[in-house]
Amino acid sequence: MRLDIEFIIYASLLIVCLLPLYIYRKKIFSSSKPQKGDFDAFLKDLKIHMKTNHPKIDIDYSIIEKTKNESNLTFRETFIIEKVVEQFFNFEYNKKTQPSVPRDKLWVNYDEKSIPSAKLPSDWQQRKELASRRDNKCCNRCGCNLPSLNETYTTFVKDIKDGGSYTLENIIILCIDCNKVLNSTNPKNTMDSLILNDKLLHLIKTK
Ligand SMILES: [Zn+2]
Repeated sequence: MRLDIEFIIYASLLIVCLLPLYIYRKKIFSSSKPQKGDFDAFLKDLKIHMKTNHPKIDIDYSIIEKTKNESNLTFRETFIIEKVVEQFFNFEYNKKTQPSVPRDKLWVNYDEKSIPSAKLPSDWQQRKELASRRDNKCCNRCGCNLPSLNETYTTFVKDIKDGGSYTLENIIILCIDCNKVLNSTNPKNTMDSLILNDKLLHLIKTK
């Protein structure tokens, strides 16, 4: 009799443990094996993402053809992403003098506070905001949208330490990734740390 109760308890436990496996069997056994259709969808998403979010960066997609013999599609997708991020990083960008803003949009003391100094001028936030509006809240390097001023970075056409001023013509606005690229001292580390990298890898996972 005692054996029977133990048997029932163990049998019930076993069923409880195996139940999730039965319920989620489809998910468990069919995951991580991308199909051809998924791969095409991935390529489409990748191209749309780059064109929409980083319109100024020209991407050469010949890597897709070059990897056609790779049968592991996840590996192939990861490799393609690596090459796209690499191109984002290596994109040749030259800092150019930025458009002026009409004088009536400026304020008293604007000129004297534009003079180069080690410390940012007290009206820096105002300058940053005006530069952002002038550029339609777009990163100067990649063209991505920068709705929030807190996530907007800046650089100078001519560095302040080289005698560059705080005038609007010298202020360039950048996204977080382009700012990282321009200040990079270790390309591999920078590429791995880019938000772009995470976003593109996400295209694989969310298929
Ligand atoms: Zn950018």
